[in-house]
Amino acid sequence: MGPSYGGVAGRALSPTLEEMTTLNFERTYAAAVPQLSLPWRAAPAPDPQLVVLNEPLARGLGLDPDELRAPEGIALLTGQVPEGVETVAQAYAGHQFGSYSPRLGDGRALLLGEVLDTAGRRRDLHLKGSGRTPFARGGDGRAALGPMLREYLMGEAMHALGIPTTRALAVVTTGEHVVREEVLPGAVLSRVASSHLRVGTFQYAAAHQDLDLLRSLADYAIERHYPAAAKADEPYLALYDAVVSAQADLVAQWMNVGFIHGVMNTDNMTISGETIDYGPCAFMEQVDPATVFSSIDHQGRYAYGNQPAIAQWDLARLGETLLPLLGDEQTAVDKAMGVLGAFGERYDRAAAGGMARKLGLTPETAAAEPEAVRVLIQDLMALLKEHRVDFTQFFRRLSQGLVEELFTDWAPLQQWDSRRRALLPDDPAKVTDQMLASNPAYLPRNRRVEDALEAATQGDLTVFHHVLEAVTDPYTERPGFEDLLGPAEGGLPHVTYCGT
Ligand code: AMP
Ligand code: MG
Repeated sequence: MGPSYGGVAGRALSPTLEEMTTLNFERTYAAAVPQLSLPWRAAPAPDPQLVVLNEPLARGLGLDPDELRAPEGIALLTGQVPEGVETVAQAYAGHQFGSYSPRLGDGRALLLGEVLDTAGRRRDLHLKGSGRTPFARGGDGRAALGPMLREYLMGEAMHALGIPTTRALAVVTTGEHVVREEVLPGAVLSRVASSHLRVGTFQYAAAHQDLDLLRSLADYAIERHYPAAAKADEPYLALYDAVVSAQADLVAQWMNVGFIHGVMNTDNMTISGETIDYGPCAFMEQVDPATVFSSIDHQGRYAYGNQPAIAQWDLARLGETLLPLLGDEQTAVDKAMGVLGAFGERYDRAAAGGMARKLGLTPETAAAEPEAVRVLIQDLMALLKEHRVDFTQFFRRLSQGLVEELFTDWAPLQQWDSRRRALLPDDPAKVTDQMLASNPAYLPRNRRVEDALEAATQGDLTVFHHVLEAVTDPYTERPGFEDLLGPAEGGLPHVTYCGT
């Protein structure tokens, strides 16, 4: 049953907070694994102002946008709930840049509750920037407006590209300031996710050395995300296999749109296979596998080209946590290694399949000539890197038959393109349709995202809405969005100094 926001038909007045938040929020996570969260309440927001509301997403959750815009709704979006409504901070551990922290958790976030959306799917409603919790360590518990709007934009762009992701429901400024390198408006992001189970959640549970807790968590993950695993001969191995597969598919999709997550720590990798925690992330413009956007990632651990290997590394950490559920010690290790070992093939298949579509090839050709397709893709990436071509623009122009214009010297690419053409099916119109539907025109271009966040911080949301409008319909080219078709003039910031 979905949340019954203002269930009385035709009522003109907005409901009281009490009416709204008896909302049928469900709390299956806290009930299943009570050791993995702490009841906690949001900090008060002295002057909450709604900055942006995701109306389609709200409706999909069965929530009424008008009610969310009312003062009671805005209060809810900052976590102001009546006594008796229990919000929790979730516990998790994680490897950050390779080193293990036994206790991370929601330092500035809360799980407001779970709702069933209009399709009957369970969704977490989560707040970020809602004040310090017992997991805050040295942090102030707050979030600045700019980074929360970046998460909003990036999540909507990914969603529109068909890539699994958490999504922002709203951003509300709190009326308080947060101190980063400068003084910035504080904000709370409300986020919708199919869950907030992370690799780090399993690491935290495993560190408790409490087999019942670990089993409860795994059972909960199976029930919530991979119910088919419950019927497998070895449900926990099937769970691991499902997560490995979901992440291989996810990262393949990232790579094929040039997405760089930036902080692929184990606490930022979901069990569901959704992209989560958009920090210093970006889309690669000029092709270079070494591209890094996080200003603190000095060694390029999370560079574009490292993402598949890092995903597998993170998944190895997940496998370690599951060992006690997989049988006696040596058998368990062998089984887990078997599953993890399949990551590479699964990733390659997903990435090559997606790239073949972008190039206009049919799945039949990709299956019949895997080696030719593999080499075609490999050579292309080398050429794009050598010629410093914009990744997204290349594929879009290729789809339109206008790609030559991107090159001062097309000759080196011509030979490559004739090899591609030799693999194309006979129906040119169909090829074009497929390519235009696989190669976005619009992405949140790095320079424009920075412009959007900077202006928003000054109170002007024009650029934010401009970029948002473009990226929510990324495959349909239309007038007025030319600035987002390619990289900005005069080069790009290669590093996003992303305050969080
Ligand atoms: P992130 O880099 O956003 O994935 O966060 C890593 C960890 O640091 C998580 O445990 C966060 O809850 C915590 N954290 C990040 N920023 C803050 C903050 N301003 N206050 C408290 N905790 C924070
Ligand atoms: Mg995180």
